[in-house]
Amino acid sequence: MSGHPALDAFRHLSAEVLGEPQIGMVVVAAALCGAWAARDEFARPSPRPLVAGLRGLLEGSAVAAPLALVTVTFAWIAVVLPNRYLELSLHYLAARELLDPALTVVVLGAAVGAAAGTLPAAARAFSGRLASPRDAATLSLAVLLWLLLAAIGGFWLNRLEPHSALHPVSLLLDALWLLAAGMGAWLFARRLREASGSRFMSRRLVGASALAAWALLGVGLSVRTFGGGRDDDRPNLVLVSIDTLRADRLGCYGHDRPTSPNLDRLATGGVRFSAATAQAPWTLPSHVSLLTGLYPSTHGVVFGTDRLVPRVTTLAEILRDSGYRTAAFTGGGYLNLRFGYQGWERFIARPHSKERRNVEKVVDAAVDWLATEARPPFFLFVHTYQVHAPFDPPARDDLFSGPFSASPLKTAGMTAPDFAQLHGRLTDLDYGLIEAKYDGEIHYTDRALAPLLSAISGMDSGSRTLVVVTSDHGENFSDHRDFPVDHRELYEAVVHVPLILAGPGLPAGLVVDDAVEVVDLMPTLLDLLGVPAPTAYDGESMRPLLAAVSRPQSRATAFSEQIRRDEPRYVSLRDPRWKLLQRRPGLYELYDLVADPEERHDLVGAGADVPPGLLAELLRWDRRARAQLAKNLAGREAPGELDESLARELRALGYL
Ligand SMILES: [Zn+2]
Repeated sequence: MSGHPALDAFRHLSAEVLGEPQIGMVVVAAALCGAWAARDEFARPSPRPLVAGLRGLLEGSAVAAPLALVTVTFAWIAVVLPNRYLELSLHYLAARELLDPALTVVVLGAAVGAAAGTLPAAARAFSGRLASPRDAATLSLAVLLWLLLAAIGGFWLNRLEPHSALHPVSLLLDALWLLAAGMGAWLFARRLREASGSRFMSRRLVGASALAAWALLGVGLSVRTFGGGRDDDRPNLVLVSIDTLRADRLGCYGHDRPTSPNLDRLATGGVRFSAATAQAPWTLPSHVSLLTGLYPSTHGVVFGTDRLVPRVTTLAEILRDSGYRTAAFTGGGYLNLRFGYQGWERFIARPHSKERRNVEKVVDAAVDWLATEARPPFFLFVHTYQVHAPFDPPARDDLFSGPFSASPLKTAGMTAPDFAQLHGRLTDLDYGLIEAKYDGEIHYTDRALAPLLSAISGMDSGSRTLVVVTSDHGENFSDHRDFPVDHRELYEAVVHVPLILAGPGLPAGLVVDDAVEVVDLMPTLLDLLGVPAPTAYDGESMRPLLAAVSRPQSRATAFSEQIRRDEPRYVSLRDPRWKLLQRRPGLYELYDLVADPEERHDLVGAGADVPPGLLAELLRWDRRARAQLAKNLAGREAPGELDESLARELRALGYL
């Protein structure tokens, strides 16, 4: 997996900059066009053919060099900065499958190279003014600047502009930006050349860059030839996070209401983990754990204004760097780039507060991306707040609340602060209504996910697609009436989440009862996709648990933690039988999950001792996590501010 750091760095550079087939093609095309542009140099008469040939080669290279550098830079930008223009070209050229995607990138590469290479030649032919490598270099510099500006603009438009790439507003903004960037680049290159006089791009400098360009080209070609080709048969990955979804509310987890026929079918055809634990009881730290394989205390995103630091590597980054297309469609709020979810070429957040029927919009956008832009292998992440409060299912999914209609509650407008206000005054009927509305939202979400599931199975690469469904936490209802309807506790109602995996190579109908953690998912997925894991995780691969044959229960324990400002760190640990909570050092609760799965009878409160092995493990882990957290919080500046529109989104969900 990993060897000498320098070798790894070289591999990384090669993969990022030169390893992509289309980049090699672009470089070759640019070099050829540059040579063609310099054909006059080749034709210059000379007494000795060998000298003439060598001089022609050198001078041709001198013109080709800046062009090749332009295209290498462009290719690098395209890889490092997700670029809507490259994507758009691919989209058009590969439209309706007229062209094979591989052929498309060749055509695109040739087009870019030809544009860069023929410009100097054309200018030379028509004006006679562009007679030297120096002039060609000026033009190349302008093209380079233009591409650079275009790519940066494309990157920011991707982030800030909510419409799809083909929307008229997008196209108008693109056109305006490309025009402005082109004018700016041309003016700047001209000024630079005038300012630096005749020494700008001297022959020696151009010669040196020619050598550099040919060396780059050689490295690129050899990496492509000998570095092992990309295996494009690698499975796709679709990861669905249904925010606030309790495991026990799905049919396949034993719920007595038919809330989830589609997810149940997925579980029947794949693997269901019966005891998966989320590492935090609320959205932001839990999702960062899901996407980094790290405990909250390790990744350090623990407060509502924190942002994931770039040194932490995400699943999306690893997959993108290994050649996957990556796209995320989320319900916004804490699933917003403001919090630093790095690694996405496309990240579209659709605020739940603005669109009550949020899951349908998110799924529509994801299905549209699958149909138009996805190119295998890809990683698609879909997130929705649909089952998060307020609970307000459409009438056709509101199937379970009839018996509770006498309750005066109007759940459609209620979030956690509203429930907190009524805390202690909710009746059985009220709880019945809240839970029935919640179940209705699950039914709706399950129905709304059907088009996504069928779009995946209808794709050519559908049989090579790994589908994962999970959640970031559950919700406390009538389970623990000492606490309001919310997700702050570490009881099973809040941290026991569904986890279903289905796809190539996975056994159908397997149920894994080991205590697993959501942080185990990332190493497991990399393992299943055959992508080397370049960093260390708190989780570990669950692949050994996926063998359908009988095996010893190897996975013993799962941790969760709730970190709040000015409150003691609250942690829990479960194994297949026991659940131990530590609200603060020395204050424990213990439940027997086999005899008392709803955690009604605290055994410590009843006078029992905490099993010493369990306590020792909790304390050992807690010590380590505390040290990690202290390291993460040390030197951290005052909490950042959230911008007003994001704060509004979060308030609509009951946060802040
Ligand atoms: Zn959440």
